[in-house]
Amino acid sequence: MTGTDIPGITRNQCVCSPPKDAEPARSQLVVDHDAHMLVEEWRLHKFQSPIELSHKDSIHHDNFEPLELHGHWDDEGTATFTNTGKTAVLRFSDRAVPYLVGGPLHHDTYLFEQLHFHWSDDDSSGCEHIFEGMAYSMEVHAVHYNEKYGDFKTAADKPDGLAVIGFFLEATDNEDNPCFSEMVKGVQKITKINNSTNIAPDCLNWIKEEAQCKGYYTYQGSLTTEPYLESVTWILYPTPIHVSRQQVAYFRELKSTVCERVNIVNNVRPIQSPPGDKKINVIYARSHKQSD
Ligand SMILES: [Zn+2]
Repeated sequence: MTGTDIPGITRNQCVCSPPKDAEPARSQLVVDHDAHMLVEEWRLHKFQSPIELSHKDSIHHDNFEPLELHGHWDDEGTATFTNTGKTAVLRFSDRAVPYLVGGPLHHDTYLFEQLHFHWSDDDSSGCEHIFEGMAYSMEVHAVHYNEKYGDFKTAADKPDGLAVIGFFLEATDNEDNPCFSEMVKGVQKITKINNSTNIAPDCLNWIKEEAQCKGYYTYQGSLTTEPYLESVTWILYPTPIHVSRQQVAYFRELKSTVCERVNIVNNVRPIQSPPGDKKINVIYARSHKQSD
């Protein structure tokens, strides 16, 4: 599959203007002809994840191709939500595989493997990455693998093997996020370890708005679970998606053991510091070219 000619897949289209106040205070503007050289060089330097992100310390890069998510919101096939004992994992089947192209992905196509969540025992510390010193209630990771390696397992230890899109979820006292309710209904059916349930195949539509309109941060890092392979192009969206405290609380009901005495209440890896005086190059890019 080439990833460019799958029928029946919807692609994202930006419906809003790029933010006017998004210029980093200390940015480097990378010119067009340097864009691909920068990606080559950037991929040589790998780091452990998660990390702290800051807008002012990011490299401002406006010359990537637009980052495109294809098929993630399609209402077809089967979506299966599973309690693995460590997190809740969503996988798709019987449908064209959603994929990512563009942005920092350097002409490669990355196919959707699974989506999972991180959370902790309180609403102010369940995310893995920290943005501008802020921690949020949950972080969701949509894991993709480079199509040229054929499958996730083969891709997982390659320098350009994986791409993960991450979003923050912020719990507030406000009403439930109605778009997130399909995930929450599902999570209540998988409290036992290794239990699975099918949910609506368009269950990721709560991510759509954030993924389509804003800029994102990208860096070369690692898996945040064992074996911590440094094979991930991270793509992180900074604006949190709002959900209710109760919606997050249902995730803490998941059991991590067969005896059902232990709940999954903290599946967050702490922030990793780069070795020595090495600096992590985090790039801030817009989802879509400003001029197009
Ligand atoms: Zn994760």
